[in-house]
Amino acid sequence: MLRVTNPATEEVIRELEEDRPSAISEKVRRAYRAQPGWAARPLKDRLEIVRRFKELVGKHQDRLAKTLTMEMGKPVTQATNELKALAGRIDYFLVETKDQLEEEEVYKASGIEERLAWEPLGIVANVSAWNYPYFVGSNVFVPALLCGNAVLYKPSELVPLTGLAIAELLWEAGVPKDVFAPVIGGAAVGQALLEHQLQGVFFTGSHAAGKKIAQQVAPGMTRLQLELGGKDATYVCEDADVKTAAQSLADGAMYNTGQSCCSVERIYVHESIYGAFLEHFVEEVKGFVVGDPTDANTYIGPLARKQQLDVLDAQVADAVQRGGKVLCGGKRRQGKGYYYEPTVISEAQNGMRLMREESFGPVIGIGRVRDDNDGVDRVNDSEYGLTAGVYTKDGARARAIMARFNAGTVYWNCCDRVSPRLPWTGRRHSGVGSTLGKLGIRAFVQPKAYHLKGE
Ligand code: NAD
Repeated sequence: MLRVTNPATEEVIRELEEDRPSAISEKVRRAYRAQPGWAARPLKDRLEIVRRFKELVGKHQDRLAKTLTMEMGKPVTQATNELKALAGRIDYFLVETKDQLEEEEVYKASGIEERLAWEPLGIVANVSAWNYPYFVGSNVFVPALLCGNAVLYKPSELVPLTGLAIAELLWEAGVPKDVFAPVIGGAAVGQALLEHQLQGVFFTGSHAAGKKIAQQVAPGMTRLQLELGGKDATYVCEDADVKTAAQSLADGAMYNTGQSCCSVERIYVHESIYGAFLEHFVEEVKGFVVGDPTDANTYIGPLARKQQLDVLDAQVADAVQRGGKVLCGGKRRQGKGYYYEPTVISEAQNGMRLMREESFGPVIGIGRVRDDNDGVDRVNDSEYGLTAGVYTKDGARARAIMARFNAGTVYWNCCDRVSPRLPWTGRRHSGVGSTLGKLGIRAFVQPKAYHLKGE
C-alpha cells in the first residue's frame, strides 16, 4: 500500500494500491497489442490529441497545482508556474515533430536510391522523478506518444496522484488507455516493470538508481536514456554586477526549495568581490518567505522527502568541521513538516560533502577563487556534469570560460534554466542521452535505411 503523505503537515492524504507484478505484466501485454494501431494513425491525429491534452491541462491548472502542492510540498505559485510553462514545451513538440519524422532521400544516382525513414521504438517505460513531474514526465511521454510509441509511465511514489491526473487527462484527450498506462508504486514496482522486454527505458532520477537500472536493462539491449542528478556550479568573475549575480544565483539555488536537477549547488566567487557577494546573497535569501506551500506568497516549502533532512544535516556538519561558516540557517525547522531553513555556507572547499554530493535542498556552499583558471578547475572538479555557469560583463571572456566547462548545458549571466528548443543532456554521473530539442524527439524513434534498386 502506498501512503501519500503531505510533507508540510505530515498527514496521509491517500492510500493507493501498488501495482502487483501480474498487473504490470497485463499492462505490458496490452501495450504490445495496442501500439501498432497507435503508430499506424496519421501523425496529425496524434498531434491533435496532444494539443487537446495541453488544453485540458490549462483548463484544470488550479486543481492540478493544488494536488502537486499537497503531495510534494511545491509552493503553489511555483506549481502553477510549472503547469503554465508546460504549454510552451508541448507547443515545441507540436511544431517540430513532423520535420523530425519526415522520410528523407539521402542519395540517388545510377539506378540506386537511398532513403532514411524513422519508426517508433515500440513499447517504452517512462520512470519519472517527483521534483518537476509535469516537466520531466512530459519531456518523455509527449514526444514518445507523438512518435507512435506506447508508454508505461511510472510516476514517482511521491507524486502518484499527479501521475494519475496526467493519465486521466491524456485519456480524455484521446490517447487509448492501453497506449498510456500508469504504473503505480515505488522502486520495487519500477524494477518489476523493467523486468519486461521493452524497446526503450527513459529514466529521470538519482545517479544511484540510474546505475542499477543500467545494469538491469543492459542484457535486453534496450535503448536507455538516463537523466540523473547534478552538482551544478557557477563562477562569478570580479567584473560581474555583484548584486544582480547574487540575486539571480540565490533564486537559482533556492527555487523549488533547491530540489531541481539544475539547482545551483556550488558557487565560486572571485576573491576581490567575495565579501560583497556574500552580503547581497544572504540578504536575498533572508527575504525568501518560508512556510505553508498553499500560500501564494510562500517561496520555500518543505522538502518532499523526510530522509533528505538527515542528508542536509550531515552535509552541514561536515562543512562546519572542515572550516565552513554558516551565514544563515544550518538546521531543520522545529514543528510539523519536513522544513529545512535556507542555509548559506561560506569558505566552502571542494573536499566537503556539501560541495561533492547532491544536496537537493535549500542549502548552498560558496567558495572563493583566485582567477579564471582556478574558477574553471573548481567548477569542473565534480563527478556530475549537468550545467555550469559564469557571471561576467565580458561576453568574449564568458564564451572562453564556457568552452572549458565540462557540462551538457552552460549559462552566461543566468542559471537554473531549461529550454524546449535545446537538448537537455548530462555528462558523466549526470546521465546518458538527451531529452528536449530535436535530439529529444529522435530519441523516441529508430532509423530504417532503405537501399532501393528499381530494376
Ligand atoms: P529516485 O532515483 O529515487 O527515483 C526516480 C524514479 O525511479 C522513481 O519513480 C522511483 O520509484 C524509481 N526507481 C528508483 N529505483 C528504481 C529501480 N531500481 N528500478 C526502477 N525504478 C526505480 O529519484 P527521485 O528522488 O525521484 O528524484 C530526484 C533525483 O532526480 C535527483 O537526483 C535529481 O537531480 C534527479 N533529476 C534529474 C533530472 C534531469 O533532467 N537530469 C530532472 C529531475 C530530477
